[in-house]
Amino acid sequence: MNTAQIGLQGILFDDKSTFMNGPALAPPLIRKAYHSESSNYYSESGMAIIPETWADKGDYKVNDYFDIEKITAQNLEGDLPLISLGGDHSISYPIIKAFADLHGPLNILHIDAHGDLYDQFEGDKFSHACPFARIMEDKLASNLVQVGIRTLSEHQREQADKFKVRIIEMKDLDDSALPSFNAPLYISLDMDALDPAFAPGVSHHEPGGMTTRQLIQLIQNIQAPIVGADIVEYNPSRDINGVTSMVCAKLLKEIAAKIITNH
Ligand code: MN
Ligand code: MN
Repeated sequence: MNTAQIGLQGILFDDKSTFMNGPALAPPLIRKAYHSESSNYYSESGMAIIPETWADKGDYKVNDYFDIEKITAQNLEGDLPLISLGGDHSISYPIIKAFADLHGPLNILHIDAHGDLYDQFEGDKFSHACPFARIMEDKLASNLVQVGIRTLSEHQREQADKFKVRIIEMKDLDDSALPSFNAPLYISLDMDALDPAFAPGVSHHEPGGMTTRQLIQLIQNIQAPIVGADIVEYNPSRDINGVTSMVCAKLLKEIAAKIITNH
């Protein structure tokens, strides 16, 4: 008999999006793609991520942004790793706050087209453009590495310097670019890190991104134990034939397999 190895929660929230809404609709569609008969439950390593793998906490319709921390803290009880399905990227700040409460400062691998380091965006310090500024101010990360970034403004470069963020910009990415991490590692995956050709279902189409294969390789190369992850910014209203939901489900399986393997 298999006992659950990873917690799973969906956060139906996109009030902190700046350009368009839609990511609040994502979690049930990622679940549907994960169960789709067009594929199977196997990760590429040969490990089957069957439904019994999950301690599934369900999807939460969130009205108050600050409830996300409480929901996450509850779902972290029992000490299993936890994967969150978003939602816009603002949810990563309260989620990581709950993780840091439990584990102390984290190593964070942040995969995104954007640095999300704005001090504030359109007057909101909790915008989806800001979570990693808040995370660094609160000292929730001992090491923040950003990968896939290709939109840095002068302000964001200053913020990265101030917070000592290590950024591997998309233009500099190669297979050996990723540093090694220490435990506990948290992975925050914004789907717009991928090129819009591979993942059109995102609010911000930023050309010149990663291939799905590059992203999977990057995940498969991680050596450190992983305590949690989020997959955010999938916007079903922009998707074409559900292709991005299948990419999300694939990445969910690959991250889950890595969590179990490195445990
Ligand atoms: Mn983001
Ligand atoms: Mn982004």
